[in-house]
Amino acid sequence: MLLKLTILPGDGIGPEVTEGATRVLETVAESFGHQLHLTRKDIGGAALLSSKDPLPPDTLQTCLSAQAVLLGAVGGPAFDDFPSHLRPESGLLKLRRKLGAFANLRPAVCYSAIAHRSPLRADLIRGTDILIVRELLGGLYFGEPRLIQGASGDRAATNTMRYREPEVDRIARVAFELARSRRRKLTSVDKANVLECSRLWREVVTEVAQDFPDIALSHMYVDSAAMALVMRPADFDVLLTENMFGDILSDEVGGVVGSLGLLASASIGGPIGLYEPVHGSAPDIAGRGIANPLGAILSCALLLRYSFRLEREAACIEWAVGRVLESGNRTADLARTGEMPIGTTEMSQKVCDAVTELARAGSVQRAAQEQSV
Ligand code: NAD
Repeated sequence: MLLKLTILPGDGIGPEVTEGATRVLETVAESFGHQLHLTRKDIGGAALLSSKDPLPPDTLQTCLSAQAVLLGAVGGPAFDDFPSHLRPESGLLKLRRKLGAFANLRPAVCYSAIAHRSPLRADLIRGTDILIVRELLGGLYFGEPRLIQGASGDRAATNTMRYREPEVDRIARVAFELARSRRRKLTSVDKANVLECSRLWREVVTEVAQDFPDIALSHMYVDSAAMALVMRPADFDVLLTENMFGDILSDEVGGVVGSLGLLASASIGGPIGLYEPVHGSAPDIAGRGIANPLGAILSCALLLRYSFRLEREAACIEWAVGRVLESGNRTADLARTGEMPIGTTEMSQKVCDAVTELARAGSVQRAAQEQSV
């Protein structure tokens, strides 16, 4: 198969982790007989510096003509004082909108080899395997009006949280469908005791549930969900929520499973999927070669699964990451006192080696079959 991808390294550790992830993709393509066509473009701060636009037309066009997009991260302190339409993040928000990527999937799995990284007790974290399904194109992050107005000393700021029924309906259907391929449990998170948007959200999700009688639906307020995620994370299966709640809860879950650097995401729903690690540009460690590339590498597994239906190849990456961790390899964010951490490039190479070995041994076929059972 020809896989035509646009790579957007972005800012901070973005270029470091996408470099590692791209090498893993190349290894998968070589091992499974696919052809990769990669085009790299600037986005975010890198694009602001080169063309004064966080999403230059050429970058957008290249994304729109690809089959899938892999992104590193955008943002950094150098751009913090830029007006909002010229901030790196506005380029990413615009890209998500242009790609029509309304469903953001964020899996969070506790790898037993690094369960000790979790701040939670081992018996609480064991078995945690959560899929957060976050609505990505609505709510506070996109609602209009959004402005700061008034005279200095008496200014007022406004953001708008708005959801239309079809927006809730379509994301709910994605979550229910995904629940069917998992443990058939769906928790919808809202703040229906206070917000009108959440009341509508709850009504629509309850209506959609009638088409999925095989899925056990429950509702939870976001404050209560934030607590339950640290008290009993292993109880959750699919967690469906709106844009801002999902943004916050997925970082919390990152902490729960041990490191933000492990978390991958897929933004789907439009014709072209966007895949990126959950973490940001991590300016505090950028340029030092110590960033954890696994979130970006696992995003490639999601890319192969959701944009190309290449389940065997996706499972191979996930298994390779598990094996590399089981073998004791740790980047600095995962290492315990006394453990010698390895760098971004070395960790990526370890995953490439494991992919090659697994593909050669033919064990991926078995892995994919087991996964689908
Ligand atoms: P961050 O995710 O960049 O970093 C939070 C902490 O986690 C830092 O201590 C960082 O060193 C660590 N970390 C993150 N990823 C890591 C990795 N792969 N390996 C090891 N450690 C890792 O969040 P932040 O510090 O709040 O934001 C920094 C910048 O990133 C800001 O400009 C923010 O707007 C931007 N940001 C971008 C995205 C995105 O591009 N999707 C997401 C979140 C934040």
